[in-house]
Amino acid sequence: MRIDVVVLHYNEIALKLGHRPMFVARLVDNVRAALAGLGVARVHHASGRILVELGGCDAGSVLQRLAVVPGIANCLPLERLPADLDALDSAVDEALEDWRPQGSFAVSVRRADKRFPMPSPQIAARVGARIVARTGARVDLGRPDCTVQVLVLFGEILLGFERVEGCGGLPVSTGGRLLLLLSGGIDSPVAGLRMQRRGARIEALHFHSVPYLSAASQDKARQLAGVIARGQQTVRLWMVPFGDAQAQIVAAVPRPLRVVLYRRMMMRIASGVGYKCKARALVTGESLGQVASQTLSNMVLIERASTMPVLRPLVGMDKLEISRYADREGCFEISILPDQDCCTLFVPRHPATAADEQRVLEAEALLDVAGIVEACRDSASAEIIEATWPAAGSRRAAMV
Ligand code: ATP
Ligand code: MG
Repeated sequence: MRIDVVVLHYNEIALKLGHRPMFVARLVDNVRAALAGLGVARVHHASGRILVELGGCDAGSVLQRLAVVPGIANCLPLERLPADLDALDSAVDEALEDWRPQGSFAVSVRRADKRFPMPSPQIAARVGARIVARTGARVDLGRPDCTVQVLVLFGEILLGFERVEGCGGLPVSTGGRLLLLLSGGIDSPVAGLRMQRRGARIEALHFHSVPYLSAASQDKARQLAGVIARGQQTVRLWMVPFGDAQAQIVAAVPRPLRVVLYRRMMMRIASGVGYKCKARALVTGESLGQVASQTLSNMVLIERASTMPVLRPLVGMDKLEISRYADREGCFEISILPDQDCCTLFVPRHPATAADEQRVLEAEALLDVAGIVEACRDSASAEIIEATWPAAGSRRAAMV
């Protein structure tokens, strides 16, 4: 079957009443940006949906990109026909040469052009009867396994047999800018994706310990930023050398307190970079109780060093849920590559799980905190990371 048009539906935006035109206009812009370079003829808004006119370009690549554009609920790849029932009949017959319903099916008809001579239920019955006659498939209007889509627009009918789920949420850049603390681990890229899907535009910051450790964590951060960039085309990635700061902490601070001090130092530096890039808040991949630095009392103590609000979208999720999400999005396989994360440098075997605030403040008084923060912030360098895509044919990673 030929695909001429992909119709996009949004759901959450539809609830936004007075702000809806702004959200829809942003989504149209974002869709255009996501499809740039693929040769799409036109993207426009009509009758409460967004239409992508393919102009002969590859539908598979278009769908792969649309599946991760925040704000899209689902995509219908459709063939364009004249507004004529005979044309609809023969297009259904032709499609049935290489398509069969897998299990039961239903026909969904939406008629934007109310002047079309046949009402929707009759069109659905006509198409359904044709499919039953040729395939013997079972109709189930309640819980069909697949749904044939018919859209009657002004002067044309669109017909399709597939529905690709989008990632939902709200369009990027309707929710402000956030700075994501991106390690090479499993959690932080998921935290970034989740905030991106609430409409935030993400910048990322990675602390590394080169030359104390290898540059492997930087490579992973770049690859993970490439996954996050799929939803917003590019991500600015800040690289901050953190090894000297850690060396100074190690020289002055008792072992059990070091992790909390590293983290507090990271928060101060990230806040500084956050102001520089006009972020409204920081985002981390912390989840309650996951490791020693993420007990409630340590998280609170760590956050106190930040001068920006800290968002933790994963705080109530467990590792299995986070890993599944990472797998679906195609970042799990990057996160589990071996690296040398800066948090493994000089880490004590038994970090304090409830560090005492007074002792932490006393330990910090032994350090030139302002000098360390300034040196790290000034040596931060920014890279622009472009979206990377799974190889053609492996749409799985981008599909849910
Ligand atoms: P992950 O590394 O995926 O987040 P984790 O369980 O290893 O998971 P921690 O190492 O305790 O988590 O880090 C908690 C959070 O602190 C991370 O989610 C991330 O937001 C931030 N963070 C940790 N290490 C770094 C780093 N090297 N660069 C930037 N942010 C970091
Ligand atoms: Mg980590």
